[in-house]
Amino acid sequence: MVPNQEKLDILLRDARACTICAEHLPLGPNPVLRASTESRLLLVGQAPGTRVHNTGIPWNDPSGVRLRSWLQMEPEEFYDERKVAIVPMGFCYPGKGKSGDLPPRKECSDTWHPNLLPLLPNIQITLLIGQYALDYFLGKRKKKTLTETVRSFREYLPDFIPLVHPSPRNYGWLKKNPWFEKELVPEMRTYVQKALI
Ligand code: SF4
Repeated sequence: MVPNQEKLDILLRDARACTICAEHLPLGPNPVLRASTESRLLLVGQAPGTRVHNTGIPWNDPSGVRLRSWLQMEPEEFYDERKVAIVPMGFCYPGKGKSGDLPPRKECSDTWHPNLLPLLPNIQITLLIGQYALDYFLGKRKKKTLTETVRSFREYLPDFIPLVHPSPRNYGWLKKNPWFEKELVPEMRTYVQKALI
């Protein structure tokens, strides 16, 4: 039998060579994801922005800086795939819409997630970062609005923590919802620290 790490490595190689929706990608395919069978924390965000596309490094932007500050995690730990798997809803930059980046390409999660996620047996907790990850992982368990879902975060523990996206576009939301950084963020840190032990 092929060991799981080998299976995962093959799948990651295939995903990184993927061109399924290339015709829709203004900058072409450049799938950005990372994972190990040892990973204990799973981060599911939206899709790379141009900076991540250009560097190939996930969360290498102001959103990543904010996310790491919420987690109180240094880049060395954040980018250690034996600890943290980073598998967004779309692996490639989807292009710009009228109000910010377009949604992650649906083909991506439809194609890759059902194959990849079962190969991560040590994930203790998954951070669902933004609406698309909430839709995919929580489905009918979501509340009417993203704010309500995030505010009800304790209902989804210990498997998931729903988060607003840490993009600068959401700084207004963070100001209006101070409970997020006062209550959710400290509890999230505790769960994440436990997960990484
Ligand atoms: S977004 Fe996903 S499905 Fe589309 S080319 Fe990139 S890896 Fe493939």
